[in-house]
Amino acid sequence: MGRIHVLSETVANQIAAGEVVERPASVVKEMLENSLDAGATRIKISVQAGGKKLIQITDNGSGMVRDDAMLAFERHATSKIKNAEDLLSIATLGFRGEALPSIASVSRLRLETRASEEPAGTVVEINGGKIARIEEAGLPLGTSITVRDLFFNTPARKKFLKAESTELSHIASLVTQYALAHPEKHFELHSATNAMLVAPPAAGYSERVYQVFGKETLDQLIPLAARQAFEHVGLPQPPPWRRKNEDEDGERGGGPGEIRIHGFVSKPEIQKLNRNSIFVFVNGRLIRDRLVQHALTEAYRNIIPPTVHPVVLLFLELPAAEVDVNVHPSKTEVRFRQASVMHDFVRDSVRAALMKARPVPQFVAEIHAHATASQALTPAEWAPTSGATAGPSAAFPSPAMELAAGAHHGFSGDGRLTLQAPVPPPASARFQFEGGIAVEANAAVPVGRGLESLPIAGSREIIPGDNCAPALEVREEEPTLSSLGTLRPLGQIRNSFILAVNEDGLWIIDQHVAHERVLFERVLKQRGAQNVESQRLLMPIVLELSPAQQAVFAEISDELQHNGFEAEPFGARSLAVKVAPAGVDAPAVEHMLHELLDQFSREEQSLNLEKIRTRIAASIACHAAIKVNMPLEQNKMEWLLAALAKTDHPMSCPHGRPVVLRYSVKDIQKAFKRI
Ligand code: ADP
Ligand code: MG
Repeated sequence: MGRIHVLSETVANQIAAGEVVERPASVVKEMLENSLDAGATRIKISVQAGGKKLIQITDNGSGMVRDDAMLAFERHATSKIKNAEDLLSIATLGFRGEALPSIASVSRLRLETRASEEPAGTVVEINGGKIARIEEAGLPLGTSITVRDLFFNTPARKKFLKAESTELSHIASLVTQYALAHPEKHFELHSATNAMLVAPPAAGYSERVYQVFGKETLDQLIPLAARQAFEHVGLPQPPPWRRKNEDEDGERGGGPGEIRIHGFVSKPEIQKLNRNSIFVFVNGRLIRDRLVQHALTEAYRNIIPPTVHPVVLLFLELPAAEVDVNVHPSKTEVRFRQASVMHDFVRDSVRAALMKARPVPQFVAEIHAHATASQALTPAEWAPTSGATAGPSAAFPSPAMELAAGAHHGFSGDGRLTLQAPVPPPASARFQFEGGIAVEANAAVPVGRGLESLPIAGSREIIPGDNCAPALEVREEEPTLSSLGTLRPLGQIRNSFILAVNEDGLWIIDQHVAHERVLFERVLKQRGAQNVESQRLLMPIVLELSPAQQAVFAEISDELQHNGFEAEPFGARSLAVKVAPAGVDAPAVEHMLHELLDQFSREEQSLNLEKIRTRIAASIACHAAIKVNMPLEQNKMEWLLAALAKTDHPMSCPHGRPVVLRYSVKDIQKAFKRI
């Protein structure tokens, strides 16, 4: 007997579900797309337990007649395409006919629907792919689908689901994105009893951005709109007998049509640590596309550092024949027929909008700080106190600051410092002085103390510089940690780096990260003892939160409270902060909370207390620490160095950046050709 058999329908659907339904947010996505395809103008979504327990979507779209309601759960049953030719010009979001049967095979699903052609509606219930009930019922026009207990019959998949708050924030950002793409429609998202998003029809995209994110975000965005005709140049022409068809496809005059772009891009001051705030829609479809991503990076080149990302909301529209949407089952990828035209068009349109909105900063040195460093490289942080570099460039670290960020860029052209590849790991950084002398960053850290695992999970570990230089006649004691305690500060370079000496050589200390390290350990200790110092703000600070941020806030609010915050919901979408940790001033409080909520909202691993605690402590430390460009009195420098010497890990900041550099006596002697 042969060994091959055809899989049962249910198993086939579960396999398809593996590709289509990754998590609760993918269910929401498929159903939202179906509602939009059905012409709905009002879509309400309710979830429980981050969608793991329940997802319900109700729309006022076309609904389905009884026969269709049953057919909809057959594999590859769709009303949206008929033949292979149709695949070349897909105008709907769905077309594969896979979503409903896939979702029904891994959940308990109830469909209620009525089309205007029929007086009565239809109810269909399916449990784990098996039809449990089909009946007539009096129902309003439209469709309501309830999905309960996702993955109840596929425990292995269920295990991969993340914390409720993580799943909820994925759903929240997804719904937010679709709401942004369709300002003329009414969207609602409720989690249990909490209304996370209520967006009635808006007059346009700007109004929708305002509705969803609030005024502040809108103020930080630059609107953009452009169009360009496609050209046939270099493309194979369709055979003559097919050209007529193309005309009928809506390509006016047989031409290839045009591409249009509109949306919003953020001003250079806005710098996100990841790409999660970049949303690109192609013909109404939310996609992740590396080509567009690359075009955006190019557009922002020299406007923001390459390690950070802008906020982008882009809508691209092009003739259906120019884009292949049938690339992946989840339909989140597309293939452009004229990829390089698309790439350059996106890059140039975004660049032009940025240029028009404000002059590009003159300072265009590339900054190769590693990603974690940028947490401390916020505009507020680096804004100089003097007016000398005011303006857009204020958002950029000065060349000197690059040192602190573990910069990689050499600025030896003018005969000054060259930094040699100190990006990972910072400890092996060598700072090349003229004359070939190198200063090793953190080389002085004796193994066993500075090298214990850093308190922040996932941060770069500091690895000792390899001290395998050839033995020299001049013996030199390896400085120990205690040698930090003997440092005598001489002064500051650019009010940012403290120069200090002791018997071991010349030291350069980054005042901001040094203080950050001191505060980080202090906050963690105080948190352990339940006595984090806090201050009542003169005026409560009101923050507007995105739906995804709201979900995270609910998760971490307890821990925030233990860290000296007092904040409570204020209206539907806002938060009023009344008390904040000592030393963090009001503007920093706002910035810091947004940063924390954003960081956590896209965390793929579920949050644990340890992680939440260290991140909050690192953030408080970063925002309360002495800034760069700040003159320090002699006693203040002495105090800082002494406090640093007492920390457990004085050589690296909570983000893993180096705190001190040492220019050893040996290096000095070598430079003077004494050895
Ligand atoms: P696809 O969207 O790829 O066609 P689905 O499995 O998502 O496949 O849906 C199957 C069919 O069910 C759709 O083609 C559509 O006709 C119908 N359908 C699904 N959801 C709705 C809805 N909310 N309103 C009206 N019809 C729907
Ligand atoms: Mg669909």
